Amino acid sequence: MKKKLIAGNWKMNGSLAANELLLKGLLAGIGQPPCSVAVCVPAIYLAQCQALLAGSVIELGAQDISSHESGAYTGEIAPAMLKEFGLRYVIVGHSERRQYHGETDEVVAVKAQQALGCGITPIVCVGETLKEREAGKTEEVVKRQLAAVIHANGHCISEVVVAYEPVWAIGTGLSATAEQAQQVHAVLRAQLKAASPNADRIKLLYGGSMNAANAASLLAQPDINGGLIGGASLKTQDFLTIIAAAV
Ligand code: PGA
Repeated sequence: MKKKLIAGNWKMNGSLAANELLLKGLLAGIGQPPCSVAVCVPAIYLAQCQALLAGSVIELGAQDISSHESGAYTGEIAPAMLKEFGLRYVIVGHSERRQYHGETDEVVAVKAQQALGCGITPIVCVGETLKEREAGKTEEVVKRQLAAVIHANGHCISEVVVAYEPVWAIGTGLSATAEQAQQVHAVLRAQLKAASPNADRIKLLYGGSMNAANAASLLAQPDINGGLIGGASLKTQDFLTIIAAAV
């Protein structure tokens, strides 16, 4: 069975002092985790976190990547720049980027391509809004979002990680039930299988109010191979509990 992945998404949280406290606490308690572990930190803290995590079991990730390679894109961070900080992962297409920064399916697909092009694993986020779920459009929406990434990345698709994050579950404390999540994960797995003979090795993460109390039941589902954790990844003990549940 493939190892699960627990990735923290710090979002726009942290400070030099808080990051050091959190990472030192995690490293003190993590031992030999049963799964792969990563933290996706604000870009300005990549150097600090790279130094704090050097040689440890916790890998480093960023939260966004430019869809361009270099040049006149004020404020953007190029793929090759991220690579210089030893990144293993980058989140692409998080719903907060889609919603507040107008990222389309096509832009997200190009960002995934840029990450793969420089050897960084994209964690591609898909997920429906509450309105879309209530309209019975969940499958249609997540399939459309994933299809763009499959289309742009062809045979490299087995190198991505996909995170199903229902928008209504993010930061609300209202996680999808294990059954709801598994249902969508099965749809995504089938779509990936149709696209790649190596789809079985693609990790499908669940994200959206995963916490120390609900992690074990979500992670026990056959097509849930890990979690993308927001709020609970900022709390040392909660994040460690989720990691321990990812067997
Ligand atoms: P949450 O966020 O765990 O705080 O709901 C998850 C995410 O947005 O990746």
